Formats: sequence, C-alpha cells, structure tokens
Amino acid sequence: MAWRSSGRTNAELITNLFNAGLITSPRVRESMSSVDRAHYCPSSPLAAYEDSPQPIGFRATISAPHMHASAAESLLPFMPEDAGANVLDIGSGSGYLTHVLANLVCGADGKGDGHVVGVDHIQGLVDMSRENMRRSEEGRRLLDTGRVELVVGDGRKGYPEGGPYDAIHVGAAAAELHQSLVDQLKAPGRMFIPVEDKDGWGSQWIWVVDKDKDGKVTKKRDMGVRYVPLTDAP
Ligand code: SAH
Repeated sequence: MAWRSSGRTNAELITNLFNAGLITSPRVRESMSSVDRAHYCPSSPLAAYEDSPQPIGFRATISAPHMHASAAESLLPFMPEDAGANVLDIGSGSGYLTHVLANLVCGADGKGDGHVVGVDHIQGLVDMSRENMRRSEEGRRLLDTGRVELVVGDGRKGYPEGGPYDAIHVGAAAAELHQSLVDQLKAPGRMFIPVEDKDGWGSQWIWVVDKDKDGKVTKKRDMGVRYVPLTDAP
C-alpha cells in the first residue's frame, strides 16, 4: 500500500500521502510539504520521493514518509502552534523528521519559540544531518538560531540537559520502554516509541506513552512496525 503514495516531486509525494489518508492533519501536511525529502536522502536522490525507507549510510535508513507522518500526527496534540513546545527526536539519523518537527513547533516562518533536539549516537550521521538541514534557507535559520540542535549521544538516556519535553519521538526500536525517557516527559507530555516485543519473533510495536498533567503515566500499544534497533554505538 505504501508505494502507491510515492511521487515524482516532494509536493506530489505529500499530496499522495494526504489523499491516501496517511496524512490527515493540514499542519502536518504543510510541515512535510515545506521540507524537501531529497535534501535528506543525498545518496539516493532519485528515490527520495518514494514512500519507502532509504539508506543514508552508517547502516541507517531515513524512515518511510508515512511513518514520519504517523509519528508527527501522534505527537501533534502536544505541539500546539505558537506554544513554544520543546521536542526531543531520538535516533535523528538524516535529520528529516527533526526538521518537520521544528516546522510544527516554530511555525511556517521558523520564527516561533519552539525548540527541537535531535540525538544520534553516530557522529558521521549528526554531521550529515547538519549538512542536510543547511541545504535550505529555512533549515539554516533553524540551526543558526538554536531552535534546532543536533547532538551526539546515547538516545536511551534521552537528553536531560534540554528537557523536560512536551513530545519525544524515538526513531529506532528500543529493547524496553526506558524509564529515563519517561522521566524526561513534561506533565502533560507524550512519547512515540517503537519497542521490541518479548515474543521471540522479532516483532516490534509502537507504544504511545502519555503523562497527564498530574504526572500519571499511561501506555498504549499501537501498530506493528519494523525499525532498526536502538543499540550501543558501533
Ligand atoms: N528518524 C531517522 C531514523 C534513522 S534510523 C530518519 O528518518 O532519518 C535510526 C537511527 O537511530 C540511526 O540513525 C541510528 O544511528 C540511531 N540510533 C540507534 N541507536 C541509537 C542510540 N542508542 N542512541 C542514539 N541514536 C541511535
């Protein structure tokens, strides 16, 4: 089903995702439309507008656009426009979703008060994600104003120095639902995290973890997925 949403241009890809019901929110549509996915797939520019993961080197992939859409839509209620939300993107890889999230919390002009930290444990990927983001004027502004920070670190520990966060996205499958990440959520806040199942079949599920305004945590298992693991650095 996913490949049906592919396009020949970024605009076509996003329109097809919207028409297929894989993007439902106008804000997510606008935010993804204004980030050219080809800037974040330097090694496979011809495949940039396919609705599929693509290799980005270092044995990592940029996730499929419909997964980025689904993550952004899940976290959206915790990233209201003009509220200056603080967001953590773990396993930021190419930097694509970090940029989309920054558009959501900083507004279309990139001048809002939002802040997004992208964390990856591979220095080469963090360097590449900065280069990718610098390919557009909006991306350069987000970096130069400090609204987006891309740092090297072990995402299983989160990034407490930048927290707490209204929304946390995890882009690699965790062996467990790390408590350190739950602790870094604001009250209220939401985390979107793929977690390995203990069934022995290698299944992974998205878990949506909500912390309410009183600090009460609830966890809901959402869809089955396939992500690269959240591991030790190579
Ligand atoms: N959201 C990214 C996904 C990249 S793939 C994108 O769409 O481009 C998953 C990423 O998780 C890889 O870049 C990998 O280097 C990173 N990763 C894996 N384990 C990690 C860890 N313990 N800490 C931080 N990043 C990690």
